[in-house]
Amino acid sequence: MNTKILTANENDIITAGEIIRNGGLVAFPTETVYGLGANALDDDAVRSIYKAKGRPSDNPLIVHIAEKDDIIPLVKEVTPEAQAVIDAFFPAPLTIILPKSEKIGSVVSGGLDTVAVRMPQNETARALIKAAGVPVAAPSANTSGLPSPTKAKYVIDDMIGKINAIIDGGDCEFGVESTVLTLAGDTPVILRP
Ligand code: AMP
Ligand code: MG
Repeated sequence: MNTKILTANENDIITAGEIIRNGGLVAFPTETVYGLGANALDDDAVRSIYKAKGRPSDNPLIVHIAEKDDIIPLVKEVTPEAQAVIDAFFPAPLTIILPKSEKIGSVVSGGLDTVAVRMPQNETARALIKAAGVPVAAPSANTSGLPSPTKAKYVIDDMIGKINAIIDGGDCEFGVESTVLTLAGDTPVILRP
């Protein structure tokens, strides 16, 4: 596969959005690490993420959104507790987990009845999700077992030939994965600090 190397300019983001909408894979920067994105509503596209990474299919993916309200169709209910967290923190390196709606397939959720959702702070990430016009499922853009990439160069070295495009958006600000908070049970629990 020929992997396009794109920039974070407007035309390239439109190109990358089209690739995702059409079922392809695009690596993109976020404030935490580089993500490997696909249309979260397309089971085949999501399967190709697991394949490109060599990731076990029971390890669920985070679904990325561009606007706070984009979470509404993805979950059973935005509880008052979830809304409070969203209003206090989003956009943020914070992922929340809630019971999933029927729109979310079992591939992206790793067979669970919950879904993990994040609205990233990174402007390029949000512009890409908007351009795609669909929620974007994305784990880190590395082969399973390797460290999560914080520079486009690391993604290029690892993923060239395996995915459709890589957006070079510079270095990631934080360099560690998002905090994961589940709101799916009786008590909120931080699953990943
Ligand atoms: P990453 O590989 O960094 O994208 O990791 C995503 C993290 O979120 C992993 O630790 C997953 O196990 C966790 N995760 C994603 N979705 C769920 C879910 N529905 N329930 C529990 N943990 C989840
Ligand atoms: Mg990772």
